[in-house]
Amino acid sequence: MSHKTIIPQPGILNISPYVAGKSTATGGNRITKLSSNENPLGPSPLARAAYIEAAASLETYPDSDHAELREAIAKVHGVAADLVICGAGSDEIIAFLCNTYAGEGDEVLYSQYGFSMYPISAMAAGATPVQAKETNRHADVDALLAACTLRTRLVFIANPNNPTGTLISEAEIERLAEGIPPQALLVLDGAYAEFIEGFNGHAALVDAHDNVVMTRTFSKIYGLGGARIGWGYGPAHVIDALNRVRGPFNVSAAALKAAQAAVLDVEYTEKCRVENAKWRGWLREALIAIGLPTDESFANFIVPRFASEQAAAEADAYLQTKGLVVRALGGYGLPEYLRITIGDEIACRAVAAALTGFMKGARA
Ligand SMILES: *Cc1c(COP(=O)(O)O)cnc(C)c1O
Repeated sequence: MSHKTIIPQPGILNISPYVAGKSTATGGNRITKLSSNENPLGPSPLARAAYIEAAASLETYPDSDHAELREAIAKVHGVAADLVICGAGSDEIIAFLCNTYAGEGDEVLYSQYGFSMYPISAMAAGATPVQAKETNRHADVDALLAACTLRTRLVFIANPNNPTGTLISEAEIERLAEGIPPQALLVLDGAYAEFIEGFNGHAALVDAHDNVVMTRTFSKIYGLGGARIGWGYGPAHVIDALNRVRGPFNVSAAALKAAQAAVLDVEYTEKCRVENAKWRGWLREALIAIGLPTDESFANFIVPRFASEQAAAEADAYLQTKGLVVRALGGYGLPEYLRITIGDEIACRAVAAALTGFMKGARA
């Protein structure tokens, strides 16, 4: 779509729009959405109550400095409240980073199977996205370092990564932080950090380096994807710059209240982590047992490999006939794989049963 005289900034029309996980299926009555890594247990009941309570004062602008939420995050995650910034999802923090640090002629580096918002936000800022090859679906620090140039301004890596679910070691991440050029900022996307027991998304690396930022979200383990809220943690010079780009009322009052209640309900978060780990392990073993190789995942989804691109497409279609909606990964360059969110017990058993039928020859 283009217009003769009214023309977007260079690069905007080259952006391939983000493809969200499907929420409908071709057949089946009850739909189980396993395509967007949402929490099958939903948010903490305290978060839901706080969100509803916020409806009583909808006429009032939200707090613009997010102090209460930042204090709650600081308390639970052991970070400094004044180095936290809140956004409308961590997607907004990613956009702030690109708008603040990258423009025309600059490069934004990420790994081959990195999250698709990195190139989208890079291009929206006028910068050039650059991919570094992965090795066996794991980010490759040597390849990332080799891809750095004088123009590299941002390096994005999610650990654990989406859509592969894989994790690389803290020592490797630290080697990356220390090896990137002086004009580049390393962004550690911790969208799935809470799914790993005792892991805080490499917050200590942020504390120890002036070129490392972490992004986090309330959309995954906290079950607040619909509220749009996330946060970033970084050195003072970065948080100061991002706050100049941030709109004063970028996060809604209801989202702030819900997120505050969610982060403080550590018992509920722990329950979600334990449930996810239990069914993720169960489902992975079930899939391996029927002949579907599946990498160990550190997040709330698993990614089985099918015999071919066609087999993956057929499995996707067959799952849909059972009301099971998963994520095809052709857009990520992984067409023989499907990404399946870890749902509740019923959903996991349904996925295993359907794929067992599929492997025995059942087709849509
Ligand atoms: C889901 C996800 C996000 C962002 O989610 P928001 O809903 O915008 O907070 C960021 N990074 C990765 C890797 C994700 O999977």
